[in-house]
Formats: sequence, structure tokens, C-alpha cells
Amino acid sequence: MNKKIGILGAGQLGKMLCLEAARLDLDLALMDKSSDYPAAKLCKRFVQGDFSNYEDVLNFGRTVDVLSIEIESVNVEALIQLQAEGIIVHPEPSKLAIIKDKGLQKEFYKKHQIPTSKFQLFDDATHIRKSLNDGTLKIPFVQKARRDGYDGRGVHIVRKEEDLAKLLDVPSIVEPLVNIEKEIAVIVAKNESGEVKAFPSVEMEFHPTANLVEYLVCPSSLDEMEESIAQKLARDLIRAFDVCGLLAVEMFLTKEGKLLINEVAPRPHNSGHHTLDSSMTSQFEQHLRAILNMPLGSCQNIAPAVMINLLGEENYSGPVKYKNIEEVLKIGGVKMLLYGKTETRPFRKMGHATIIAKDLAEAKKKAQEAKSLLKIIST
Ligand code: ADP
Repeated sequence: MNKKIGILGAGQLGKMLCLEAARLDLDLALMDKSSDYPAAKLCKRFVQGDFSNYEDVLNFGRTVDVLSIEIESVNVEALIQLQAEGIIVHPEPSKLAIIKDKGLQKEFYKKHQIPTSKFQLFDDATHIRKSLNDGTLKIPFVQKARRDGYDGRGVHIVRKEEDLAKLLDVPSIVEPLVNIEKEIAVIVAKNESGEVKAFPSVEMEFHPTANLVEYLVCPSSLDEMEESIAQKLARDLIRAFDVCGLLAVEMFLTKEGKLLINEVAPRPHNSGHHTLDSSMTSQFEQHLRAILNMPLGSCQNIAPAVMINLLGEENYSGPVKYKNIEEVLKIGGVKMLLYGKTETRPFRKMGHATIIAKDLAEAKKKAQEAKSLLKIIST
């Protein structure tokens, strides 16, 4: 409990880690580029630096006992050096290097016989076109940039010839288009003692154009058998990766009834925000417990919950302004968390709200109401 904890990144996930760290009076320092970022004002110590820069990560890491992340795009070489110097680093840097690269991630699943869709690796768009010409690849397919994709950026779905014009010209993986029935996520945690606990699955419903999660529903509509398979997959996966802290596991339930792993993130995740308000332990507290090798908390869900991301309106960029916020605050059961980002952009995640109600139908109705009222625009 007296250990100095360092987190790379000071975005919204960092902010929520700070909120939860304060409950246990943990000593949290964060590093990121600007003291304007969401978590900077909340942490005990903020250090200005670039988490993708070797020297910055090294210098920051040397000031803490345990180092973790709230974003994957950090300098892994510096983490490896820090680990060699005796700093505890979670997630384990060599595993983070695998997870950061969707190609290596897929190869890991294949090697460990973890169910996932088939895939092929490509160098660039020309390479993909060549395979289409010689018949080794066929439309439809999904192209994903191997590195640095997030929130649907770096994912290109090719359903017809015309979609080929927008192929991503970067090293990528290509997967068959999965017949998705449901998209779910299970967040699981492991500590150094080997204790493993998983949160109940949540179901994601996507925005039709922005390719971002629109509603997140907990509990999901998986039946008992599917739920136990999803839980087991998540637990098997965190043991296979052998990482400490959280692992957010995104899965597809196919129309044929099979659960496939889509991708993982070794940190708190958008699909676990509701746990702040509807679970015995939040994902953020669980991450902190896990990286400190403390006993993991109960993952029991206390109430049905719907989470909505509060996104920047489509045609606004610039200093943020929240419209109708008082109207939203009048709705009972809506727990809003604004990230405090100074600038809005179309579809930027500016906050979220978790709606707790006696059942999911009522929670969804209130979520819809809050969503139609609140507008995040610029001044
Ligand atoms: P990101 O890292 O940007 O979140 P994902 O791999 O989660 O990328 O893909 C974003 C979304 O694209 C998924 O949530 C899903 O809706 C869709 N998608 C991804 N892979 C496939 C696939 N193989 N078949 C069909 N849809 C897919």
C-alpha cells in the first residue's frame, strides 16, 4: 500500500484510476504530454513527458516502485530497461509488445489454441491487391492496421470492390468478415499471487456510422452456458499471457453460436466504466489492487446498468461547451462522469454516463433520454 505507483498516460482512464486510488489513499503519479489532460489535476504528482519517448519513460519510471499504463502506445524498450533495474512493471513489457501488434496478438492466439477468426498478414495495400489478383484473398474481408488503431480507426471493412479504394497502406492483418450476433467484453484481473477474477460480460452496441460503442449493457444477453464459456476464455487468456493487472477481452459471439476472441487490452477499458457505479469493485480499483498484488475485489454486479459514451457532436471542433447538462442531471439514476477535456472534436470521447435502473429496459430508456438531451459542442 505504501508503494509509489506510476501510470503512463493521463487521459480519462488515468482520471478514473486517480479517483479510485484516492479511496485507498494510494500514491499515484502520472506522466503525459500536457498538464491540461483529464487526470493531471487529480493525481498526487503529475510529470510532463512523452510516454512514447525512451528517456522520458525511463526517467519517470525510476521515480516509482510499480509502473503501469492507461494506454498501449508507450515505449516498451524503456519498460524492459526499468524492469531490469528492479522496477515492477505491469503489464509485463514483452507481453505488451505482443498485444500492441495485432499481427503478433493473432499469432499468440493461434499458438495457444485460443479461438479467434482466421487471419493473414500483409505489408501494405499493394500486397493486399496482389493477393486479390492472384486469388489468395477474396472480398469480403476486414483489414486492420497492425499498430496504433483505436476506436475503430485502423479498421477498414471491405464488403465490395469500391471499398478497396480506401485500403490502409500500412502493415496489417486481414480477417474474414465474421457473422457477428453479439459483441461482448469480459474484463479479467490477475495479481502476482496468481489470483484471477473476471467481471460479468457486458454487451456492446455500436454507433451505426462512427464505429464507436454507443450502448454498453450489463448484464449481457448471453445465456448461462455462453457466459461460462466467455468467463473461462477470459481467465484462460490472462493466464496464457501471464500479465498482472487488468486484461479487457473483446469477443464476438457468431451467428453460429461460437465465441471468438477479437482483441485484448492490458489496462482499464471503455467496456468497464459502468463498474464504477454498478459493481462491488470498479475495474480501476481492481487494476490497482492487481498491480500491487493485493487481494482482488468482488466482481459482483449490484444493479442492471447501461453505459453511454458522451461524444463530441459531429460538426464541432474547439473549446468544449456542454448543452442541456442541467436537464440531464434532473434524470434520476444517471451518473455522469465528464473527463474535463478542454477541446471537443467529432465523436471524441468527452465523458460517459452510467444509468442504473430496476431493469435494463428502463435504464435504456433513460440512456436514450440523456443522449438526446446532452449536446457536446464548441463555444
Ligand atoms: P479497435 O481496435 O479499433 O477497437 P476492433 O478490432 O475492435 O478495432 O474492430 C472494431 C469493430 O469492427 C469491431 O467492434 C467490430 O464491430 C468490427 N469488426 C472487427 N473485426 C471484424 C470481423 N472480423 N468481422 C466483422 N466485423 C469486425
